[in-house]
Amino acid sequence: MIVGIDLGTTHSLVAAWLDGAPRLIPNALGGVLTPSCVGVDEDGSILVGEAARERLQTHPQQTASLFKRYMGSSRSVRLGDRDYRAEELSALVLRSLKADAEAFLGEPVTRAIVTVPACFSDAQRKATRWAGELAGLKVERLLNEPTAAALAHGRHDTGSLARFLVFDLGGGTFDVSILEMFEGVVEVRASAGDNMLGGEDFTRSIADLAFANGVPEAARDDPRFMQRLVASAERAKRELSAGGTATLDVRYEDRSTRVAIDAAAFEKLAQPLLNRLWRPIERAMRDARIRAADLDSVVLAGGATRMPVIRALATRMFGRFPAVGHNPDQVVAMGAAVQAGMKMKDKALDEMVMTDVCAYTVGTDVVRQLDDGSQAPGFFVPVIQRNTAVPVSRVERFSPATPEQKQIRIGIYQGESRMVRDNITLGELTIPILPGPGHGDGVDVRFTYDVNDLLEVEVSVVASGEVRRLVIESGEAHMPAEEIARRLQALSILKIHPRDTLEYRTLLARAERLYEQFLGEPRERLGRVILRFEQVLATQDQRLIVRDAVAFRESLQAIERDDRFAPDPA
Ligand code: AMP
Repeated sequence: MIVGIDLGTTHSLVAAWLDGAPRLIPNALGGVLTPSCVGVDEDGSILVGEAARERLQTHPQQTASLFKRYMGSSRSVRLGDRDYRAEELSALVLRSLKADAEAFLGEPVTRAIVTVPACFSDAQRKATRWAGELAGLKVERLLNEPTAAALAHGRHDTGSLARFLVFDLGGGTFDVSILEMFEGVVEVRASAGDNMLGGEDFTRSIADLAFANGVPEAARDDPRFMQRLVASAERAKRELSAGGTATLDVRYEDRSTRVAIDAAAFEKLAQPLLNRLWRPIERAMRDARIRAADLDSVVLAGGATRMPVIRALATRMFGRFPAVGHNPDQVVAMGAAVQAGMKMKDKALDEMVMTDVCAYTVGTDVVRQLDDGSQAPGFFVPVIQRNTAVPVSRVERFSPATPEQKQIRIGIYQGESRMVRDNITLGELTIPILPGPGHGDGVDVRFTYDVNDLLEVEVSVVASGEVRRLVIESGEAHMPAEEIARRLQALSILKIHPRDTLEYRTLLARAERLYEQFLGEPRERLGRVILRFEQVLATQDQRLIVRDAVAFRESLQAIERDDRFAPDPA
C-alpha cells in the first residue's frame, strides 16, 4: 500500500486510495488533522501532534512547531538534551502518520507520496525526501501541493477541456498553479509561489497589535508569553473567519491587554501580505499564457483560504467566486491519495495521466565580453527554463576560452536573476580537458529535472567521452554521509510516546495549558481534576481510565467554554 501524505506547516494528514476513492486516515485521537508539532515530555519521550501542540504554551522550550519553514536549511532547534533539524522533526511527524496508517489499514506502510509546496527549492525537496527516509518511508514521489489539489478535483473530470487555477495558501507557503484538464489528462501549465508567505503571517500581524497597544517590546523575549499571544491571535483570526469581529486578549505580568478587531481593521492590517499574493499569480498566468477570463474555475486549497479577506481577494482577482466543494484543509491529502492510487495502477484511475512542471529556472554561468574589451564574470545562462514540463533533460556545450586551458569549471544555479550572485548556488564541478585534438570542443553539460523536480547534472568531455556526475548538495543543507547515518541512528533510539495512551497524554497537556490560562476558582478546579485523572491513570485499570477520561474531557470542555464550574466527575 502506498499512502498519500500532506506534510503541512501547521497540520499534516495521511490518506489512502481505498475501494476506488481517496480516504483520509484518522490519527490516534480520531481526527484527520495532526498538528505538525513535536515535543519532548518530562520522561524524555517524544510527543507528536495534538499533545505537543497543547504544550507549545506550557513548555515552549521543549516543543517545536512551524519547522517546515526551515526545511533544507542548517537551522536546528534544541528540545530537551539534543538539537533537531527540520528534517528530523518532520520525520517524527511522518513516523506518527505512518503508525496511524498502519493501525488503520492493518498492514505495514513503507511507501508514500509526500506533497511539497510547488515553490520548494531543490534543497527543500531533498530535505523532504530525506525526512521520509528517516521515518522509514520510501518517498515514491514528491507531489506539488496545488497539483495534488487539482488531482482531487480532476477525478471528476467531465471530459471537456477545463482550465483552472489552484490558489493554495497554507500555514507557511503560498502556491499558485494553472492547470489544464482534458479527457483524464491533467497538465500543469505553470506554477509560482512564495515559500515565505502563509496563514501564520496573518496570525503574526494580529499578534503584533498587542505591542501597538501597550505590551512592552521586552515581552517578545518571553517564550511562554509569545506562545500565549500567538494562540490568542490564532483564535481571533478564526473568529474573524466565522463572524465579523474578534478580540485579541493577553496578559503580560499583571496587566491584561484587550484589542477589538473587525473585518475592516483586519483587512487593513493584512494589506501588505495581501499585496504579496499578486506577484506569483501574475507570473503563473503570464508563464501559462492565460488570462483570468480563460479560466473555467478557481480552486482554493490550504486552511488559510478560509479567511474571508482571501476569498474576497480571489473573487476580485478572477471576477468569479472560487469553487467550493472540497475542504481546503483536506484537498491536498486527498490528491496525494489519488496519486498513490495511480502509482498502484488502480483500475478506476487507469485513464488518468498527470504532468507537472519545474518551478525554477536552472543554468550555469559565463564570462561576458564587454564593449571596452574587458571581461565580466557571473552572468547566468538558463539551461532549463521554469515551468518546463518534467521530466526534462537539456544539453548545452561549453568551449574553453583559450587553447591552453586545462580545465573547465561549471557552476550550477537555480533562480530567475540575470547575475548568478542573485540566484541560489546548487553546486559546481571542475573537469579537466587536456590540450590536444578535439580540445576546443569543450564539454557537454546535461541538466535533468526528474518528476520530483530534483536536479541532476552530468558533464562529459566531448573529445574523450569522460563523464562526471554532480550530486547536488547545496551548501547549507548539505550533510556528509556519516552525519546522516549518525542522525538516523539517534532518531531510531528515541522513545516515542505510546500511541494507545496518546489520547490521555493529550488531555493532560490540554488541562495543564488551561491551568496556566485560568485564575481563581476554575484554576483550583483544574488542579483537582488533573490530580484525580493522574491517579486514575496510575491504577492502570483500563475500564476506570476510559470512564474517567470521558468525565475529565467534559470538565475541560466546560471550563474552556466559560469560566463557570463544570460538575465534578464523580
Ligand atoms: P494548512 O497548512 O493548509 O493546514 O493551513 C493552515 C493555516 O490555515 C493556518 O495558518 C491556520 O491558521 C489557517 N486556518 C485554518 N482554519 C482557518 C480559519 N477558519 N480561518 C482562518 N485561518 C484558518
